Amino acid sequence: MDLDFKRVVIKLSGEALSGGIGHGLDDETIEKICKSVKDVYDLGIQICIVVGGGNFWRGRSSEKIERSTSDHMGMLATIINSLRLQATLENMGVPTRVQTAISVHEVAEPFIKRKAERHLEKGRIVIFGAGTGMPYFSTDTTAALRAAEMQADVILLGKTGTDGIYDKDPNKFKDAKKFEELTYIEILNRGLGIMDATATSLCMDNNIPLIVFGIDNPENLVSVVKGERVGTIVRGK
Ligand code: UDP
Repeated sequence: MDLDFKRVVIKLSGEALSGGIGHGLDDETIEKICKSVKDVYDLGIQICIVVGGGNFWRGRSSEKIERSTSDHMGMLATIINSLRLQATLENMGVPTRVQTAISVHEVAEPFIKRKAERHLEKGRIVIFGAGTGMPYFSTDTTAALRAAEMQADVILLGKTGTDGIYDKDPNKFKDAKKFEELTYIEILNRGLGIMDATATSLCMDNNIPLIVFGIDNPENLVSVVKGERVGTIVRGK
C-alpha cells in the first residue's frame, strides 16, 4: 500500500464501544479496542481519535426535542466516550489528552490545533470530543475536519457490522460485492451510505485518504496500519 501512516485519525463510532448491544459501554470491548490502539501507538504512529456518541444519543433520535438541543446532547455523549477511552488507554500506560469542541474546562482541554500538535509530538494520543461543536454535523465530518486541520495522512474508519464498503448491504444481499478501492465521487454518485455527504465531500475536497474496516475485530486496526489489505481504501482521485 502506498499510504503513509505517520499521523492518523482513528474514527470510532459510539456503537463500537457498546459490544454489539448498540447502547452503553462494554468494558471488554473497550479494552480490546484500546489494546489495538496501543499496538498502533507502539509502532510509533501519531494518533488522533474522534469518537461518536451513538451508543448514548443521536441528534436525529427524537422528534420531540428541537434538533439543535438534541445534537448538543449527542455531542455531550461523545465527551463521555472520550473520557472512557482516555481512562482505559491511560490504564494501559498510554498518555492521552482529551480536547473538546464544547468547553468543559473541568474535565478536558478546549480544541486548540497547535496544542494538539504539541501533544502528538510529545507522544500523547489526542482524543477529540464534542464533534465539531456545531449541531447538524456528524462525528464522521469531525474526523474529516480534524484530519484536514491536523494534516493527518489518513482516516481509519472503524465500522461495526461490516468489514468495508459494499455495492449493496451485505447483510441483506448475498451477491453484494466488496470494493477494494473507491473514490469519494463514486461514493457520492452511487449513494453509498458509508459516511454522510458532508463528511464525504470534505474528505474529497481535501484529498484525505480513508480506510474503512471492520472494528468488530479490533485487531484489524493494526493490520490496516501494517499495510495489509483490510477493508476498503477511498481516495480523492
Ligand atoms: N453531533 C453534532 N455535531 C457534530 C458531531 C456530532 O451535533 O459535529 C451530534 C449529533 O447529534 C450526532 C451525535 O452528536 O448524532 C453523535 O455523533 P454521531 O452520530 O456522529 O456518532 P456515531 O454514529 O459515530 O456514534
